[in-house]
Amino acid sequence: MANKEEKHKENIPGPWFCTDPDDSEGEGCIACGLCYGSAPEFFQEDDDGNAFIFRQPEGDDEIALCQEQLEDCPVSSIGSDG
Ligand code: SF4
Repeated sequence: MANKEEKHKENIPGPWFCTDPDDSEGEGCIACGLCYGSAPEFFQEDDDGNAFIFRQPEGDDEIALCQEQLEDCPVSSIGSDG
């Protein structure tokens, strides 16, 4: 589960977040590109290719799309309970 104590500093405030690439629990983003490639309306990449939440999802369809990214992230770097 993504650690909400170690959020990427560029996340827009709200429940959805990506963890910092230097997350001490080893769940930080590894810049695989999956989330911002699949859902660029909500996830964007910083200068190092690490993901952060650009816009919080609203409504069932948007949340479902972000939930897919959460489940597919290879290092559990996306959370929805922040
Ligand atoms: S899917 Fe996970 S590891 Fe890949 S860019 Fe997004 S947050 Fe980072």
